[in-house]
Amino acid sequence: MADKPKVAIYWLASCAGCDEAIVDLNEAILMVADAVDIVLWPVALDFKYESIRKMEKGEITLAIIHGAVRNSEQEEMAKLLREKSQLVLAFGACACFGGTAGLANFRSKEDIFNWVYQDAPTVVNPNMNRPQTETSVNGNTLTLPEFFERVHPLNDIISVDYYLPGCPPPPDLIANAVFAVLEDKLPPRGTTLAPSKPLCDACPRNRSKPLRLEISEFKRIHEVEANEDQCFLAQGILCIGPAIRSGCGETCIRTNTPCRGCFGPVDGVDDAGAKFISSLASLISADNEEESQKTIDGIADLAGYCYRFSLPSASLKHKNKE
Ligand code: SF4
Ligand code: SF4
Repeated sequence: MADKPKVAIYWLASCAGCDEAIVDLNEAILMVADAVDIVLWPVALDFKYESIRKMEKGEITLAIIHGAVRNSEQEEMAKLLREKSQLVLAFGACACFGGTAGLANFRSKEDIFNWVYQDAPTVVNPNMNRPQTETSVNGNTLTLPEFFERVHPLNDIISVDYYLPGCPPPPDLIANAVFAVLEDKLPPRGTTLAPSKPLCDACPRNRSKPLRLEISEFKRIHEVEANEDQCFLAQGILCIGPAIRSGCGETCIRTNTPCRGCFGPVDGVDDAGAKFISSLASLISADNEEESQKTIDGIADLAGYCYRFSLPSASLKHKNKE
């Protein structure tokens, strides 16, 4: 009998919600487990990195990698899996675009270390110690991964063959992706394995979205009792759906929560946040500059909202110290 395809599932800077999404395949996970040989899945099974290092180049058919890259251990593992795998799937918003961990790019590494190891009210660190990549203890050297200046999406570090966005990706798209690999029915490399139309096109509230939106006041979702049928933007509540790829099942919208953008941009758009912000300007209804400024000032943390899942892959990418 021919060997089963080998699959590695690995986490970088990730909350492991993507691992849970794989388990959420329910019965389909049994079919997948039967069809493949899982050679690495740290959250579920005890494999050693060494056994991956000993593999031939390309011996793994598919590496499913979730999480962003923030330190040198994550970089090393991403490069190792790239070398040993025929296909790499960037799985979830963090691997695809940097994810919520990528919001850290609004701060420098120095700012983060100062807060975490010195300034936070709960910290007691009289010697101002900071983590070191090498520390000598009783004649032995202990090592820690190097914490990078900023968070990276996976394709900053290695070449990626396919992308499956979402926080986390939904089970139907995961199953489609895995079976496309097993049945050799994959689209061209570089494809995002989700529909390319915008979320608004799939949204059950789309019909209530006026052709010409005019917003004179922005409200935050917790400040109002949002109408459950009406388009959020028509209610003056930020919803980034016009700039975001569909395929999530409109999960947030169906629970009366506006879209924050975990599926990333549609094909042909690099920066969904910038696209949304530029379109937002044309929606503001004001008679003069003062009124328009007042409306804009009513938007809390616009950059944090529009780049919640995608700052490291946006044109802005990170705080520039200079
Ligand atoms: S803006 Fe949001 S609520 Fe309105 S149609 Fe688009 S996705 Fe739906
Ligand atoms: S509605 Fe937006 S934030 Fe929510 S799951 Fe869908 S793409 Fe992600």
